[in-house]
Amino acid sequence: MFCIVALAILLCMVDNPRNLPSRSGASSASARSVEIALIDFHTHSSASDGVLSPHALLNRAAREGVRRLAITDHDTINGYLSLRGTALSDSMPDGVLAECQLVSGAEFSCQWGRLGIHIVALGFDPDTPNLRKHLARLDTARSERAVQIAQRLERAGMPGGLAGARGLADGAQIGRPHFARWMVEAGHIASEELAFKRFLGRGKAGDIAVLWPSLGETVTAICDSGGIAVLAHPLEYKMTATRLRALTDAFCEAGGKAIEVINGRSRPDDQALLWRIADQRHLHVSVGSDFHRDSTYGARLGVEVTGIPNGRGVWESL
Ligand code: AMP
Ligand code: MN
Ligand code: MN
Ligand code: MN
Repeated sequence: MFCIVALAILLCMVDNPRNLPSRSGASSASARSVEIALIDFHTHSSASDGVLSPHALLNRAAREGVRRLAITDHDTINGYLSLRGTALSDSMPDGVLAECQLVSGAEFSCQWGRLGIHIVALGFDPDTPNLRKHLARLDTARSERAVQIAQRLERAGMPGGLAGARGLADGAQIGRPHFARWMVEAGHIASEELAFKRFLGRGKAGDIAVLWPSLGETVTAICDSGGIAVLAHPLEYKMTATRLRALTDAFCEAGGKAIEVINGRSRPDDQALLWRIADQRHLHVSVGSDFHRDSTYGARLGVEVTGIPNGRGVWESL
């Protein structure tokens, strides 16, 4: 009996490597029940540093039972725009009739003091001129940063990074993951993880202090376009609880309305702190896998939201 229980627990962990809330009865994509309320408001496509094309991502999400999806690429809405008005007309395997509603989204890089913070924007009007201006500014910042990263890598004995990373990005919003991939493919380093650890991660040579737009400017641009600003993966900044509360206060003062309480990159045990912050500041909550690609490291698409109290989820007002 004990062995059977232990085996069941083990299988559950393998199926759910990032320990997102469990999805009962969902042992594989095709077997996953479409009745479970799955939402994913934080995902990446090949328009930034994700692997799947926007179209493939939407289809995949629909197949896996995700009912509401936001493609939140880093500092670009090109992936979302390429899908605007797209119907899920592609044949669905297994005859699964799945519907997945796409919500406009992006993950904005911004600056709070000296710190880089990510803000997920949801449900905005993508044609708002000020939002487009903000995106153009981010585009320039990213291009200039890429030049500087390449210079730093060249000084570290790795020339040709700019062309390499640009080639891999293939017109997408260029980011550090493209440099990491290039470093591996050019034989400079054994893995992307190691590339971040040694050269691209916080405090390393390729970590350029960019002057992203401020937190206030970013939240304002989102609100002005009719969107909801969500403080993304608050636990990824590795702050003390006190500093995290100060960040949340600044975010709220700027007009931020929601906090991401579930992110595929965070551990569920840490959610209590986020819920406390959300409750104290009457914030709505959002959830997302932060999916970039299939891997044992990353999360699967879709987050179960049945346990989230009525009236709290951002999806209720989108
Ligand atoms: P950027 O937006 O260009 O600053 O790149 C940040 C992105 O790099 C994140 O969104 C992750 O997708 C990825 N990333 C950050 N840290 C790591 C890491 N240690 N290993 C692999 N990918 C990472
Ligand atoms: Mn990313
Ligand atoms: Mn992020
Ligand atoms: Mn992300």
